[in-house]
Amino acid sequence: MAQNFDVVVIGAGPGGYVAAIRSAQLGLKTACIEREYLGGVCLNVGCIPSKAMISATHFLHKAQHDAAEMGINIKGISVDMKQLKKWKESVTTKMSGGVGGLLKGNGVTVFSGEAEFKSKTEITVKSKSGTESIMAKNFIVATGSRPIEIPGFKFDEKDILSSTGALALDQIPKSMVVIGGGYIGLEISGYMSKLGTKVTVVEASTAVLNGVVDPECAQVVSRKLSKQGVEILTGAKAKGQKKSGNGYEVTVEVGGKEQVLKCDKILVTVGRKPNSDQANLKAAGIQIDEKGFIKVDAQRRTSVPNIFAIGDIACQPMLAHKASHEGVLVAEVIAGKNRVYDAKTVPAVVFTDPEIASAGMMESEARAKGYNDLKIGKFPFAANGRATSLLETDGFVKMIADAKTHILLGVHIVGPEASNLISEAALAVEMGARLEDLALTIHPHPTLGETMMEAAEATLGHAIHIIQKPLTRGKDAHA
Ligand SMILES: Cc1cc2nc3c(=O)[nH]c(=O)nc-3n(C[C@H](O)[C@H](O)[C@H](O)COP(=O)(O)OP(=O)(O)OC[C@H]3O[C@@H](n4cnc5c(N)ncnc54)[C@H](O)[C@@H]3O)c2cc1C
Repeated sequence: MAQNFDVVVIGAGPGGYVAAIRSAQLGLKTACIEREYLGGVCLNVGCIPSKAMISATHFLHKAQHDAAEMGINIKGISVDMKQLKKWKESVTTKMSGGVGGLLKGNGVTVFSGEAEFKSKTEITVKSKSGTESIMAKNFIVATGSRPIEIPGFKFDEKDILSSTGALALDQIPKSMVVIGGGYIGLEISGYMSKLGTKVTVVEASTAVLNGVVDPECAQVVSRKLSKQGVEILTGAKAKGQKKSGNGYEVTVEVGGKEQVLKCDKILVTVGRKPNSDQANLKAAGIQIDEKGFIKVDAQRRTSVPNIFAIGDIACQPMLAHKASHEGVLVAEVIAGKNRVYDAKTVPAVVFTDPEIASAGMMESEARAKGYNDLKIGKFPFAANGRATSLLETDGFVKMIADAKTHILLGVHIVGPEASNLISEAALAVEMGARLEDLALTIHPHPTLGETMMEAAEATLGHAIHIIQKPLTRGKDAHA
């Protein structure tokens, strides 16, 4: 006999497990099906392990480069890669176990196995112990995405790696070619280089993080990576690879000329694709768009009214917090609440050194939306006391506002703790705040957060801790 539920969530990533918990909180009889790991890509082979590696190597880099300047002499620093891997795994295990506890504590029934649709009201779950049938009034598809492979670079996860293989390395390679200068490629390049690997990034477009972040922010990171020893080839296409001794030769075309890069490992990070070719979505009649995402409306309802889709499988941006937001939204829609996806911004962070974070529109996006009269201002971390005391003065906070109303349209940060600073900006953009709201809010001293207040003041033309040209000061500067 098939078990029956109000809601069955397929996939226990940050979209799925959040949707399951919220559904159960709302009194719906809920099940969650997961084939691999609770917490999904994010907790197991994505956000969390990559940030663990980034934290550890940041610490290493500070000890090697900044400690002596602060009068702290550390001798004999070395990296025990096996222990580092063990520690990273302990972090992901703890987080994934936490998700299991939360699901159980909220009364969600968890099935381990691969789900496949049989119809719009029935799925089967295949596991080692057999196949069982599950019926539900509503389904939430949260099956996520996987790395894209490119011709000639088939992942073996030993030498030719996706992000998953790179995160599982237990030895530090001497050299690595990273194909793709998006956020995942640059985050891994940054920490591998801090571990001592000679990294070469091969990026097809004219700049790294092209179109993803504010171009000025990308430049700061690009310069810092180069200073750290990472070679960045832009306008470069990886054509193929062949084994050579213990390593590989990667053929790359740059500006019409071919060159060969020798390396021990190859990492391919050219993007991720939704898993819409799995779980037999066709059997339920779920429609897919031309990019492979499940077609959804503003409530994240698919072409089949009782089936919803959230997270990486649904639409861009492929980010964990967007998936979780949609998880809560869909559970509430199923429970009868009148909700739609109406977020003004999904803040985004690139955990490079320094970090980049943004909320709201880039200048080009604002102009494309018809905001022709903009106020744009910047405040550098070099003028902030806390950043100076941290020896982390690279970067700035940039604000873009409508010149007429002073309503904040976008905030772009490159610098220390940009990932934490951006939440204030996200709230401001979401609430339709004006530059004055940020400038007149008392920010505690000495903190990195003061750069938010001063960037708002700078955009109004009168930041205190930088000298602004008289031209940018003005009649409309508040008292
Ligand atoms: C290296 C890396 C770093 C990242 N860093 C960040 C970051 O810093 N911040 C950020 O916001 N995002 C980051 N991301 C992206 C983030 O991981 C994803 O956006 C997020 O995991 C998407 O969540 P999801 O719930 O949609 O899907 P996923 O996390 O992909 O989870 C989907 C789950 O569904 C399961 N599943 C799939 N098909 C089936 C089936 N048929 N039956 C049963 N189970 C199934 C899978 O096993 C998986 O556990 C990173 C990704 C990577 C790879």
